Amino acid sequence: MSTQWDVVVVGGGLAGITAARDLKQRGFNTVVLEASDRLGGRTYTIEDEGCTVELGGTWIYWNQPFIWAEKERYGLAIEETPGCVAEHIAIHRGDRIEALAADEVGEFMAGFDVFFSEAIKVWERPYDAKHSWEAIREREAITVADRMASLALTPLQKAAIGGFLEILSMSAPSSASYVEMMRCYALCGWNTTVFKDTAARYKFADGTGALVDAMVRDGGFDVRTSSPVTAVNQQGDGISVQTANGDIHHGRLGVITVPMNVMNSVAFHPPLSPIKQEAADVKHAGGGSKVFFVVKGDPGPVMTLARSADSALIGSFTYHRGEHQSLLAGFSLEPDALDKSVEEWQSIFNDYLPDLEILRTFGHPWGTDPLSQGSWCSYRPGTVTRFAEALPLTEGKLFFASGDHGDGWRGFMEGAIASGSQTAMAVLKTLSRD
Ligand SMILES: Cc1cc2nc3c(=O)[nH]c(=O)nc-3n(C[C@H](O)[C@H](O)[C@H](O)COP(=O)(O)OP(=O)(O)OC[C@H]3O[C@@H](n4cnc5c(N)ncnc54)[C@H](O)[C@@H]3O)c2cc1C
Repeated sequence: MSTQWDVVVVGGGLAGITAARDLKQRGFNTVVLEASDRLGGRTYTIEDEGCTVELGGTWIYWNQPFIWAEKERYGLAIEETPGCVAEHIAIHRGDRIEALAADEVGEFMAGFDVFFSEAIKVWERPYDAKHSWEAIREREAITVADRMASLALTPLQKAAIGGFLEILSMSAPSSASYVEMMRCYALCGWNTTVFKDTAARYKFADGTGALVDAMVRDGGFDVRTSSPVTAVNQQGDGISVQTANGDIHHGRLGVITVPMNVMNSVAFHPPLSPIKQEAADVKHAGGGSKVFFVVKGDPGPVMTLARSADSALIGSFTYHRGEHQSLLAGFSLEPDALDKSVEEWQSIFNDYLPDLEILRTFGHPWGTDPLSQGSWCSYRPGTVTRFAEALPLTEGKLFFASGDHGDGWRGFMEGAIASGSQTAMAVLKTLSRD
């Protein structure tokens, strides 16, 4: 089968859906080719015993202008995550696990101020890295581990800030970039409460799936699911995109949105620029697993925090409360996190929340999923300025949109929608000129 389009969008996550909607609504014949049998990419809403659960992207905040505008535009409700404002926080402090006492909250939060003390200088404008380019470049080889080691933090701060940043980067402190963490903090107005709440407080009541559905319905673009793209060729008058089932889609222009970590699964002719190729080879460091724990009864709003050096569970908190059973969301950097038995997890939780009874666990294997090969994007130390600048650049008739690149909220759903929207405008400019 051979079809002609104005624009062929490769990948149906939030970046691809946004670009396709914006282009179709301006009258251009647009198709999204998605490898999986569903849209949404690294957002994935399921129903589990009547509870809406996000296996992937979840939390949003009003400091994220693009996704908040979508929420408002489509009238989507949000709800709070109980454990983000926990009444009981058990922290692994190296040699012991203890609940955070009321008079320790200030010490915990002050640790962020110490860790991020130069964020306002280094990221004075988090949407404009060029504004303080040299300050960012000077520090981009520094890892989170380096920064932690250089500071006089208390044992509580080392454990709590360390665990929190391992979740935010979804990687070990030795692979996590200090400037990337600072960028996230700067995007939250250099404010610790906003930083914490942006990470995990507000989520879509009906799931990110409701946002994806609303955008697809509104967009009216064509969609081909179960259509993995194997090759993208540029020729004089346009592009041709081949799928694994042998279909060829011709387009005047293309928008590539496949995640950085799986870019190598598509053959590009001519090849991608050396720096895009390097990024596809080096990959981002965001790995780990989000694990859900179905527990008996209602534990109330609880949270646990630890460093991966101390525990398989770097963090967990109440996701949904129910009278008979509740749900906790947890994070782990261990490769076998989703394969651990209930008994194994139970013995880990016993040290933190001894009254908790785990009934079952589940999650999506983003790290081994061939369509993501990782979780959210977290650039490796030493790659930040080069990749951030080069990955969004147009190459011939191919445009690139992704939550894995661009200024601002890179690594978040916000970044994907922003990138999709900005790329659609760039594509429109070229289409209107040709
Ligand atoms: C566990 C987890 C938790 C997260 N939590 C949050 C959060 O709380 N808040 C937040 O803002 N962000 C979060 N994120 C990050 C956020 O989900 C992503 O940054 C965002 O969804 C990326 O969107 P995207 O469109 O750029 O990429 P993707 O969603 O990955 O979309 C790319 C699409 O390309 C498809 N594809 C891949 N290869 C091919 C191919 N060869 N041919 C055709 N299609 C292909 C994929 O199947 C996918 O649908 C989380 C991510 C994960 C994994």
